[in-house]
Amino acid sequence: MNGNHYDVAIIGGGVIGGSIAFQLAKRNVRVVVLEKDRIASEASSAAAGMLGAQSEFSNEHPLISSMAYPCEKCPSTPCFIPFALKSRDMIVPLAEELKELTGIDIGLVQKGILKIALTEEENEALQRNYEFWRRMEQSVQWLSVDDVAVFEPNVTKNLRGAMYLPNDGQVSAPDLSLAFAKASIVYGAEWQEFTEVLDVAQEGDDYRLRTNHGTVHAGAVVVAAGAWSALFLEKTGLSLSMYPVKGECLLVKVEKPIIQTTVFAKNGCYIVPKKGNRLLIGATSTPYTFDKKVTVQGIMSLLERAQQLLPTIRTAEWERAWAGIRPQTGDGVPYIGEHPHYKNIWIATGHYRNGILLSPITGVIIADLVEGKGSGEFDLAPFSLTRHQATYTV
Ligand SMILES: Cc1cc2nc3c(=O)[nH]c(=O)nc-3n(C[C@H](O)[C@H](O)[C@H](O)COP(=O)(O)OP(=O)(O)OC[C@H]3O[C@@H](n4cnc5c(N)ncnc54)[C@H](O)[C@@H]3O)c2cc1C
Repeated sequence: MNGNHYDVAIIGGGVIGGSIAFQLAKRNVRVVVLEKDRIASEASSAAAGMLGAQSEFSNEHPLISSMAYPCEKCPSTPCFIPFALKSRDMIVPLAEELKELTGIDIGLVQKGILKIALTEEENEALQRNYEFWRRMEQSVQWLSVDDVAVFEPNVTKNLRGAMYLPNDGQVSAPDLSLAFAKASIVYGAEWQEFTEVLDVAQEGDDYRLRTNHGTVHAGAVVVAAGAWSALFLEKTGLSLSMYPVKGECLLVKVEKPIIQTTVFAKNGCYIVPKKGNRLLIGATSTPYTFDKKVTVQGIMSLLERAQQLLPTIRTAEWERAWAGIRPQTGDGVPYIGEHPHYKNIWIATGHYRNGILLSPITGVIIADLVEGKGSGEFDLAPFSLTRHQATYTV
């Protein structure tokens, strides 16, 4: 066995590639992660780190509202719900495990997410979300204007209603991504930064990956290249319905904490309290671009909406702004599974605005698939790689 032969080569060193590398290396699989830039230098470091299993996947999510793919294993519940909830629950023991292995504190905060409706229309939609979570028997509370004034006194009084999700938390996305990478290295994984995979070809039972620094051989390949996955996979004859969505965020500092929980307006603006009295404000949404320029228009719109939500923020001190590229799919559901034309090429991508939340479960599922254990309690039909290639006959 030569030095550049591995059991599994992972393309992409973001939170998804890192989580998969961690799970595989922990099972004594010889792993290499090939990253074209630095560890988690793209979306995974740009993220706000919310664990929005309930705030993101309500009755409004395309998969759930259309019920296009009811889960055979849990027919009464759209399968995405247990998937997201399980991933959120996995973060708590993971935070401890990663801290022990790497010394990195992933900044887990379990103080919930408060969703705010500022208009009557938003209020009606939020009430439908609330009813949905009650039907799903998950923790959820409806708060009146007066309740919010007691719960988060600095939030605007000019609101219609609010829904509190006590079990949705948050982490530091860059720290989680780095912790996965370091923990995988503790278990023997190798990371090659500034190594772009140019193409992959089958060679007997193995794959040969051509990079800008030579070739790597592996028995299996995992494509976790975020928003660049579809471009790469086109070279293997697989066409995915994916597009990039740029998101801008900014960070400000206040003298003392002004909110305890994450405050999320129905209009898309959120404020996440971070350590050191910092508030992360996000996020804009510009589809079909890989350009990461931070624009005046983007920042102005975030600041206006943040001030509407939390008026006292206007005295906060400016720190910095950045942008990242989210990997979105045609129907808003990630792609998780085996390449339809190549055995042992696995794909985990398209996590859009929930890759931090979904990284723990994605890591375990891909590791199980690579080891031939199947997908366990989850039906992966909704995540199928061929769902956008249906052929119609008349
Ligand atoms: C502003 C913003 C806010 C967000 N907030 C949240 C949030 O609060 N909660 C949440 O759960 N999610 C959030 N997200 C979404 C989350 O960041 C993504 O879903 C997640 O980071 C995707 O992880 P990934 O590993 O698939 O992609 P990435 O982090 O983009 O990693 C993919 C990696 O692959 C590398 N790569 C690509 N092509 C190649 C190649 N050919 N060879 C080698 N390497 C390659 C890239 O350099 C990159 O580092 C947010 C995203 C943004 C932009």
